[in-house]
Amino acid sequence: MIVFMENLEKLKAAVRGKKIILFGPPGCGKGNRSRDLRALGLVHVASGIALRAKVRNDPDSELSKKAFEFMKRGDLVPDEIVVNIVMEHLNREECQKNGFVLDGFPRTKAQAEVLFSQVDIDLVLHLDVPRKFLAYGVVEGHRRACVDCATGYSDFDTPEVEGVCDKCGGSLVRRADDNTETIENRLKLYDEQTKSFLQDFEAKGIVEVLPITVSDDEEIDDTYLKKLKGEVYWGQTDKGGKARMLNFEGMRKRLYKLLAEKFT
Ligand code: ADP
Repeated sequence: MIVFMENLEKLKAAVRGKKIILFGPPGCGKGNRSRDLRALGLVHVASGIALRAKVRNDPDSELSKKAFEFMKRGDLVPDEIVVNIVMEHLNREECQKNGFVLDGFPRTKAQAEVLFSQVDIDLVLHLDVPRKFLAYGVVEGHRRACVDCATGYSDFDTPEVEGVCDKCGGSLVRRADDNTETIENRLKLYDEQTKSFLQDFEAKGIVEVLPITVSDDEEIDDTYLKKLKGEVYWGQTDKGGKARMLNFEGMRKRLYKLLAEKFT
């Protein structure tokens, strides 16, 4: 099923008020999928963006200094700091009214417990992206994001003009913590502290998997595949084989199809 423009309005109405968690390791595309969900009217609440904003806007506070110490190493910021910042966002009227997409939270079991004790989550979208591609995409693929609207780019999804966001004209920057050491640490923490409680969500029957790879027998238009220097990109899967990867448009199409099947 293809989501045409007229169906988009239906989809927006169907997802209005929904509370969705994006679940997946660093560099799996949570930022870009959040943008797709924001385009449907959901409010984007990203713990990483909220923390960086706190540190930037209030650099001298003890809380900011403490948070920054953890962030620059790629370590998890203590639960009590993150939980307060995120829950304060979620309790705002715009989130209650329009629904939200939660990006980067919860990352520990304690965070998940606070969240689930206070909010009824409708859907956890598990962004299932091969490990090899995660580290490669962030570091070698030169991940960068718009300072204004947070749209993400890389060597696979390049902007039309280097350094300038296609969507809003904002400047593109690389994050200071996008280097080989911190990405390895962030992936390790994901394995040790975050991935383990996905099964608690699965037990509630609210998880849907959104894979980035395309199976060998799936016929797909080239325009929906990732390209590197004009060639379709074959990423290494976790099982050791190779698979074609969806690009930004392809993932959006797959996401909207999943939401339409689930909520309409
Ligand atoms: P990424 O998904 O690429 O790691 P984020 O922007 O989500 O990027 O997070 C950046 C940093 O902010 C993390 O490395 C961590 O230090 C901190 N952070 C973000 N969300 C959380 C969270 N839920 N719990 C603890 N620390 C967090």
